[in-house]
Formats: sequence, structure tokens, C-alpha cells
Amino acid sequence: MVQTVPHIIHGDVLADSDVSFLAVHSSVSGQKIAQVPIADKAQCHQAVQAAQAAFESWSATPPVKRAQILFKFRDLLDKHQAQLAALITREHGKTLDDATGSIMRAIEVVEVHCGVLSELQGYFSANVSKAIDCWTTCEPLGVCAGVSPFNFPVMVPVWMMIPAIAAGNTFILKPSEQAPSAPNYLVDLLVQAGLPAGVVQVLHGDKSTVDHLLIHPGISAFTAVASTPVAEHIYKQATEYGKRAHTFGGAKNHAVIMPDADLDQTAHALMGAAFGSAGERCMAISAVVVVGEAVADRLIERMKPMIQSMKIDAGDVVGCEMGPLISEAHRERVLQAITEGVDEGADLVLDGRLFTHPEYPNGYFVGPSLFDHVTEDMRVYQREIFGPVLVVLRVKSFDEALALVNRNLYGNGTAIFTRSGYYAREYSRRVQVGMVGINVPIPVPIATHPFGGWKRSAFGDTGMHGADSIHFYTRKKTVTARWPMDGAHEEHVFAMPTH
Ligand code: NAD
Repeated sequence: MVQTVPHIIHGDVLADSDVSFLAVHSSVSGQKIAQVPIADKAQCHQAVQAAQAAFESWSATPPVKRAQILFKFRDLLDKHQAQLAALITREHGKTLDDATGSIMRAIEVVEVHCGVLSELQGYFSANVSKAIDCWTTCEPLGVCAGVSPFNFPVMVPVWMMIPAIAAGNTFILKPSEQAPSAPNYLVDLLVQAGLPAGVVQVLHGDKSTVDHLLIHPGISAFTAVASTPVAEHIYKQATEYGKRAHTFGGAKNHAVIMPDADLDQTAHALMGAAFGSAGERCMAISAVVVVGEAVADRLIERMKPMIQSMKIDAGDVVGCEMGPLISEAHRERVLQAITEGVDEGADLVLDGRLFTHPEYPNGYFVGPSLFDHVTEDMRVYQREIFGPVLVVLRVKSFDEALALVNRNLYGNGTAIFTRSGYYAREYSRRVQVGMVGINVPIPVPIATHPFGGWKRSAFGDTGMHGADSIHFYTRKKTVTARWPMDGAHEEHVFAMPTH
């Protein structure tokens, strides 16, 4: 009997009544290791009711009290890093180091929202008219929902759930069905930290579950992190049903390499950015745009031996640098993308299709691939592969590189490698991308600066992290108050009040 990862509604685990399940596989061995129930319409309704019931007292709980729970949660996250990382690695396949790094980034987000009292500060204008004061407060929205992807089972749920509850909302999380255990563990830690029942629910499932939530009138706001078609679908549906929404989608992140870049440093930076987490990161660098033929030759010369000596293994093996992909279906998609690149004439310098793991023949492994002489019209460049496949495009000038990046449909992250302050500044100023690195390959901002892409990498007006999240999860209320002296003479006024 494999373990069932249950829904959590009003603090209770709920698995017995489920009839439909989805299998969770070990990406290393391909074996079924768990299952998740698919929440149906009635369970979605039950979760919304639990969240609505909890909202009244949670939203009235003083922010400092909410922050005290977050402080405890932060410490528990820190203490349970190893257990959480092990769960992530077991289902997702990424290395333990990488999983731990993502938990540390989640902790950063919690730390920021421990300061929720000041994040929720409104503003006050005294004596705006005779005996009248005016003030504005940040109010929670109600029940909020979040849909998360497989690749960050802790960090992305924390991005959504923590600012939402810090601001006084209650929350329903629909984690990825492919890596569901760590999100449940997270909610266990929140409960241990003192979070009252009903403030956070976890509903497992697939598209059908998300669709029930999208049309539920009891949900006020929706956040999703997903592939672009899914992010767009959720954004459109949620807003059509009158909910506030912001959703974050896929990417094709470029690194522009200028002729003056330190190529040793650049090659090392690109290795982690392209092949870390087997390329399954929305901020992974998947396209390198090199200015100058000779520069491209020298960069590839440096990267080739580094790629060839990468240690590919189960993510919990000491020294492992790259684990398997998430699923057999995804492995097939990545292999097919490589074959397509070859068919359309790109120069396959290193072929990841050839890799097999001697101990795990059924694992979802693909070796790292490097393509050279890729052109803009090729599918291997255009689509998000979300695997360990790096493509090199050669251009003649900075302007050509910038124009190429700006023509791309996506605009999540990008980086420029250069020693020139002028080109670094020009690039960051003119590039049509939400997050830019200057000699920083994966510019995921620190948790006080907004995370979010442009163009088809994000839908909606606000990013995640810090002030943007609080802005998204609250609405403003403005009170205008007058305290006239008892018995003062009053006359009625029909004109628009002006004083
Ligand atoms: P996915 O789109 O397959 O699934 C994401 C979530 O949406 C899951 O919870 C899934 O159950 C749900 N879902 C799937 N199909 C749906 C549908 N038709 N309607 C409603 N819900 C649906 O994505 P994934 O494979 O889990 O994750 C990888 C993708 O996420 C990549 O495209 C990656 O770039 C993107 N991503 C983006 C960011 C970002 O911040 N922009 C961060 C991480 C991942």
C-alpha cells in the first residue's frame, strides 16, 4: 500500500472519502511512491467554507499576534530543513543542496512578513477639513487560493500563502500533484507554530480541482505559478469570475555574453544557471546569446569539459550535481525537443539523450545537452524546454543581442555578462524583462523586491514578494471622520462637500 498524501481542511486530514487518486512517482526509480486524492466539487466547497469560517477571527487577530506565529513558523522551517529537503528530493529529484537552497529562500520570505505590522501600516491625514480627519487602512480580501507548480514545492507555496495569511486572509493551496508531500509538511509546521484551524487548507488534485475553485464565489483572489497556457487560463477564468488575480508563467531566459566578459567566471555561472535543478527552474538560463564568433568558440571550449564531467545521480547522493526530471512524460518531451533541434539543423555539441543511469534504468534521467549555431526561427530556441538543454545563439553586436531578447515572447529573467558599466546599464535599462542580472546568472530578487516577469511570463499587475504581495493580498479602506462639538449649530448642505 502506498502512502496517501491527504487534503487538509480545517486542520483535519481528509482522505477516506476520496474515490479518485493520482500516482506520485519517484523520479529516480520511476516507482509509484505515493498517491494524492483529487478534490471534487464538494470538497472544494468544504475547504472554502472552512476558510470563510476562520476568516472572521483570523482577520481580527492583531497583526503582531499573527507575526508571532510566523516567527515560530520561521524557526520550525529552519529546524526542519533536512526533512523538507528530503521530501522535495524524493518526489522532485533535485539535489538535496538545491532543495535546501530553495527552503532558505522561503525562510527569507517568512522573515520579511514577520514585519507585517509595518507592512500593513496605512496613512493618516489630520484635520483635512473642520474637525475632520481621514485615514486609510490595508484590509484583507477574504479567502484566497493559490496553485503551485512541481518545481518549488516549498518556496512557491510560501510566496503565496505567507503574505496572504500575514495580511489577515485565509488560504486554500492546490499544490502540484507531482510533488505534494512537502506542501503538507509545511502546513503541519504552520499548525505546530500555532496557526488556528481553517486559516490554511490544502486541496490536492488536478485541473478539475482548480476549475472548481476558479468558479467558487467564496474565493476573492487567485495566485498561480504554472506553465504559460495554464497561468493564462487561470488568470482569465479568475478575473472573469470577479476575483483578483495574478499568475506567473513559463520562460525563456537569455544570458547575453559581451566580448569583454570574464569567460571563466561566465562559464561557471552558466553551468549552474542552465543545468542546476536539471533546468527545471523558471529562472534557468536556457539561451546564451554570444556577441562575437571567437567569444562563442572560447565560451563553448570552456563549458564543454565542465558539462562532460557533471555528476548526474539520485539527488540524495553526496556530490550529485544534477538529478532526474520530474516525470516520464516530461523526459519524453525533453528528448523530443533535442531531436527536433537536431532535425532543424542546430549543431548538437553534447547530446544528453545518450545518458542512462546504470542503477536506475527506469529513472527520468536526461543528460545535459548543448546546442551551438542555433537561430531564432528554431523551435529548440523558441519553446520553453524546462530541461537540461542550453542553446547558443551567435550575434555580431550588443544591439543585435538586445533586439533578439526583446523579440522573445517571454520576459521572466535575463542576465548580461560584461565588464562594461555602460553596456550593463544600457541592457538593464532597455531590456523588456522583469528580472535582470548583471554578472548574476539567476537574478531571483531578495524577498523585499518584486519577483515577476513581463510579457507572457506573467499575467496581472503585481509581482510576488514584499510590498507587492501585501498590495495584492489587501485592499484599501479610507475612513473620513468628523467629531463636532456637542450641540454645535448645523445646517444642511446640498452642494458637494468641500470643507
Ligand atoms: P503546470 O502548468 O503543468 O502545473 C502547475 C499547476 O497548475 C499544478 O498545480 C497543476 O495541477 C495545475 N494545472 C495544470 N494544468 C491545469 C489546467 N489546465 N488548469 C488549471 N490548473 C492546471 O506546470 P508545472 O509543470 O507544474 O511547472 C512548470 C512550469 O511552471 C514551467 O512552465 C515553469 O516555467 C513555470 N514556473 C513559473 C514560475 C514563475 O515564477 N514564473 C516559477 C516556477 C515555475
